[in-house]
Amino acid sequence: MVNLYGMELSKLQSLMVELGQKPFRAIQLYTWLYEKKATSFDEMTDISLSFREVLKEKFEISIPKISVKQVSSDGTIKLLLELEDGSKVETVLMRYNYGNAVCVSSQVGCNMGCSFCSSGMLGKQRSLLPHELVGQILVVNNLLKEEGKGERVTHVVVMGTGEPFDNYDNVMDFIRIINAQKGLAIGARHITVSTCGLPDKIIQYGSEGLQTNLAISLHAPNNKLRSALMKINKAHPLEEVIDAIKKYEKKAGRRVTYEYLLLEGINDTKECAIELINLIKGTCGYVNLIPYNETNKFDYKRSSGNRVHAFLDILMKNGVKATIRKEFGSDIDAACGQLRAKAKENEEI
Ligand code: SAH
Repeated sequence: MVNLYGMELSKLQSLMVELGQKPFRAIQLYTWLYEKKATSFDEMTDISLSFREVLKEKFEISIPKISVKQVSSDGTIKLLLELEDGSKVETVLMRYNYGNAVCVSSQVGCNMGCSFCSSGMLGKQRSLLPHELVGQILVVNNLLKEEGKGERVTHVVVMGTGEPFDNYDNVMDFIRIINAQKGLAIGARHITVSTCGLPDKIIQYGSEGLQTNLAISLHAPNNKLRSALMKINKAHPLEEVIDAIKKYEKKAGRRVTYEYLLLEGINDTKECAIELINLIKGTCGYVNLIPYNETNKFDYKRSSGNRVHAFLDILMKNGVKATIRKEFGSDIDAACGQLRAKAKENEEI
């Protein structure tokens, strides 16, 4: 059975034609799903009974189940969601003054094996399907609806567990579904995909004709250090990544965000800041400095506030636009992959 929430509109239109229907049926189904929030085909009263039976045989309509819900004092909600096959993924709602941002996972586990990240510790079990990505937003929308303030998810970052460009096609379908006017109508400029740096996919993403954003997990300004922190750098060193970014910028006409995690004494020195400036000089990106979320699994320490500000100062004085990432949910298991890792540990005990 195919989950209807995973159907990208143009694909659904083609499928309707294959079933002897007008393409308009697809819009009608989208309206039922996303505007009228139907949860069964029986509610779709403007579709003939006989075609509803056909739909029932082909499709199901369901969203992930909430397995754990943690609410932080700042309103951040971290969810562990259970999928049909029992897999668990993390989804986080962060409340900014400009809207509600959801951080979605793109895979069950991750194979990228970054040395500082809990998500990679268990390896990749599988990639998520489009409906499992859309489902994460729908679950959060339902929670916001329960709050009764008329709010909904307005921003999406694909920055949870997994490497989105290792699940490229499904992530692109997801983006098109949530961006569609008749879908969840989330503005393209409010959607960001974060990658550890797969050059071919960076270039491909640039030619999708989307106005969405791209973030690159850089974390180090030279190959030696980056390869020590991120296994992927051995396969795709910085030169390849920067070259792909230049192509992306040219094709998409969009600038990237460089994510730079600050690890005390490792990549937060003055020399690293200068190297970083030189590395990204030929691109238009800006830098987002990320305070490291410490975990008891690794020895890495978060850089002190002074060091973070010193690093920021060097960037700014040299004309590189940079910000420090705002933190959410520090009183819950907010760091990437931690909630899932903890749940897994408990299962194993
Ligand atoms: N695979 C993608 C997206 C998921 S990781 C990527 O690499 O971009 C999302 C971001 O969280 C990455 O920048 C990652 O390096 C960072 N991250 C991982 N563990 C972290 C931690 N403990 N504290 C802060 N950021 C972390």
